[in-house]
Amino acid sequence: MRIAVISDVHANLHALEAVLAAVERERVDALWCLGDVVGYGPHPSRCCTHVAAHSDIPLAGNHDLGVTGALDLDDFSAEAAIAARWTAAALDPDALGWLASLEPAVETPEAQLCHASPRDPVWEYVLGAGAAVAALGQATRPLVLVGHSHVPLAFETPSLPEHGPVSGGLAPAGTEISLRDGARRLLNPGSVGQPRDGDPRAAWLLLDLDARIASFRRVPYDVARTQADIVAAGLPVSLADRLGEGL
Ligand code: ZN
Repeated sequence: MRIAVISDVHANLHALEAVLAAVERERVDALWCLGDVVGYGPHPSRCCTHVAAHSDIPLAGNHDLGVTGALDLDDFSAEAAIAARWTAAALDPDALGWLASLEPAVETPEAQLCHASPRDPVWEYVLGAGAAVAALGQATRPLVLVGHSHVPLAFETPSLPEHGPVSGGLAPAGTEISLRDGARRLLNPGSVGQPRDGDPRAAWLLLDLDARIASFRRVPYDVARTQADIVAAGLPVSLADRLGEGL
C-alpha cells in the first residue's frame, strides 16, 4: 500500500494543486490529510472541495476547529484570529459543514494520525526529541503521523526505551526513512501551504508500506500567485510575505 500524507494546506490552492499533481504521478492507493485545510490562505472553499474529493482520511486541525466555532479564537494569535474570522465569512456552507464533520485524530491499522500529537491532538507542537519521546510514549501504534508545526520531521525510538535514545530530526527534501520493524516512529510531512523550515516549496510525504520506506517530497508552486491572492483578499500582508521565505 502506498499512501500520500499531506498536512497544513492552509487554503493555499496553488500549493495544493501542485502537490495533488505530484501525488497523482505516484499512483498512490490512498491520501491522508492531517488537518488545517483552512486558515491563513485565500482559497478556503476550493481547498476543502479538493481535500474532500481526494483524501481517504481527512483530519481537523486547530484552524479548522477555530473556523467552525469548536475552538475559541481567543486562544489564537492575533494574525491567526483575523484570518479565521475572514475564513468563516468566506467559506461556503458545504465546506463549513464538511470541516465540522472532521476529528483531530484517527487510528488505522497502519498508523495513528493526529493533527498535533497523541497526547494533545489539537495544540501540542512536537518539534524536538523530548516532545517526540513523550508523544511516542502515548502512541497507540508504532507509526505516528502528525502535522501542526509545519516542519517536516522524522523521529525514531527503539520499541523498548532501554534499547536506546530517540534519533532523528528535520527531514528536508529527499530524506528517506526505513520503516523496518522494531522501532516506533513519529513523522511529520511538513506543510503544503505554509512551510516553516526555510524551504518555500510545498511539502508532502510518500509512505510506501510495501517497500517500507517513507520519502519526504517537495514541490515548487507559484508562490507569487498565492501572495497576490492573499493581498487581494485583504488578509494580513505578513501572511503573504512569509510564504516567500518558507518561514
Ligand atoms: Zn497549521
